[in-house]
Amino acid sequence: MIAEPGRSRDNPIAATFLSRRLVEQRGLGEGTWHFDFDLAGCGLDYVVGDSFGIFAKNDLGLVDQIIALLGALHTTEVRGRTLREVLTEDMSLSPAPDSLFELLSYLTGGAQREKARALAQGEDPDGDAATLDVSGAAEVLQCASAPRAFVEALELLQPRLYSISSSHNATPGKLSLTVDCVRYVVGKRKRLGLASTFLAERIQPGDEVKVYVQKAHGFALPQDPKTPIIMIGPGTGIRRSAPFCSIAARPVRSARTGCSSAISASETDSSSVERAPNWQRYRPAPSQHPSPCACVAQKYDVRASRARPDLAADLAHASALEFLGAVARQAKRQARQQA
Ligand SMILES: Cc1cc2nc3c(=O)[nH]c(=O)nc-3n(C[C@H](O)[C@H](O)[C@H](O)COP(=O)(O)OP(=O)(O)OC[C@H]3O[C@@H](n4cnc5c(N)ncnc54)[C@H](O)[C@@H]3O)c2cc1C
Repeated sequence: MIAEPGRSRDNPIAATFLSRRLVEQRGLGEGTWHFDFDLAGCGLDYVVGDSFGIFAKNDLGLVDQIIALLGALHTTEVRGRTLREVLTEDMSLSPAPDSLFELLSYLTGGAQREKARALAQGEDPDGDAATLDVSGAAEVLQCASAPRAFVEALELLQPRLYSISSSHNATPGKLSLTVDCVRYVVGKRKRLGLASTFLAERIQPGDEVKVYVQKAHGFALPQDPKTPIIMIGPGTGIRRSAPFCSIAARPVRSARTGCSSAISASETDSSSVERAPNWQRYRPAPSQHPSPCACVAQKYDVRASRARPDLAADLAHASALEFLGAVARQAKRQARQQA
């Protein structure tokens, strides 16, 4: 059965990319970004906790480098389109699949053939298997393959999921993401995370991109806005905390009145979430709201850092228990005052 358009990776829909903003710079080209999309044209909606799937395109520089290694023309016809289009939009150029090593083992000779054979069987004869993406494999094994066979040996490009960090009720027709940009160096080569750098650099405002909304299972706000909630980001990546932004972005009229707290295990997440639109609005000074039951999110804890990710979950858990204790004490105090 074909899913409704935009509700599954098998049936994505086109949304318009609106804008990007660097929230926090870290190192050269790394950092946390805020991205906006227009959903009005495609009519998609979402609720807190849902994720957004994006079909990104490969970097053209990398695509042309591979075409040059193959000794082919970028206009060569493959699957009814140009080689450049197919490599940019359809094929994964990240880790080289076993099928590519297998193909290369038939095309090379001598030591290179032995290496390609071993790699195709999941072995790592020279200890460099982890560094061999598609371009690296073609370079190391130095062989020009027929473009069509080469493309057939690759895997299909997969969409990337991102936790939605906006609220459909606050900004209908608009969707925001908070994304850490992935860039690293292997040997002398610069590697780019496919989707994060596509959003940070390659897509332009007004461009369309294939997307879908993936429903969250078992992650949603309670129906009753008075139900206390504790938001715990147990990992050390922004994806654990991005949904907090979505909760904080909800309009005031639908704001939660129950006692709420957000606990993160990452300093990076803390700054990203706190700089998210509307977060401060929900974090009034303690003097304004002395009761922990008065505002949406009046406590934001950071309990561990990337330096000790092994401690993150335990500390976030401990923090949650500590917060629950504080809530219980507060409730007892209020009950005594009312008696
Ligand atoms: C449900 C869900 C929600 C998510 N929400 C968010 C979110 O809100 N924000 C967010 O930023 N991400 C989120 N993610 C992660 C996101 O989907 C992507 O995995 C991430 O952005 C990287 O994708 P990419 O295409 O940019 O990089 P890819 O091309 O997939 O490359 C990433 C890979 O590169 C390799 N790599 C990365 N750094 C290094 C290094 N230093 N050395 C060697 N190898 C390295 C690793 O193998 C890594 O898996 C979420 C994931 C899921 C499943």
